[in-house]
Amino acid sequence: MKFCSNCAQPVAVRVPDGDHLPRYVCDACGMVHYQNPKLVVGCVPEADDGRILLCKRAIEPRLGYWTVPAGFMENGETTQDGARRESWEEALARVEISSLLAVVHVLHADQVHVMFRARLLDGQFGVGAESLEVKLCSEAEIPWADIAFRSVDFALRRYLEDRGHGVEQHHFTTIDFRKPQEHHR
Ligand SMILES: [Zn+2]
Repeated sequence: MKFCSNCAQPVAVRVPDGDHLPRYVCDACGMVHYQNPKLVVGCVPEADDGRILLCKRAIEPRLGYWTVPAGFMENGETTQDGARRESWEEALARVEISSLLAVVHVLHADQVHVMFRARLLDGQFGVGAESLEVKLCSEAEIPWADIAFRSVDFALRRYLEDRGHGVEQHHFTTIDFRKPQEHHR
């Protein structure tokens, strides 16, 4: 950030009075521009026959790799709303969101990924604008080597493990690809 989005004057980076971290501060209008993690919401949609809906990404990052429906949460929606919306946008799939599956802290990307279990409602799906291909995969057909993101890999593996044990737990993990010197920026 170089300029204040409130008054268009240059911003400085410093620790504001009473704070404990460096922030983008505008000395012209006094606004402090906080930067906080973004939420990514998604789900693992399961069809009635137990297969899982996967989408091949048509956009960067990780174009051409496989994911479950997921994307940035919008203002004014719940995490479940967001996961349902992403299923429609990426896979033209109507889903019923069920239990919480995973919360993944992606520290290097300043993101938190929240993943739910879901049921594909009518067996119908298609190729949304952000996808190259959408398909149902049995457990044996999941393209593990071509999964787009670690968080999706984590969610799929926990999903299948839990399903195999007949339980629906929620799982937390942290992914951190930052270089050591970046940890205390
Ligand atoms: Zn300003």
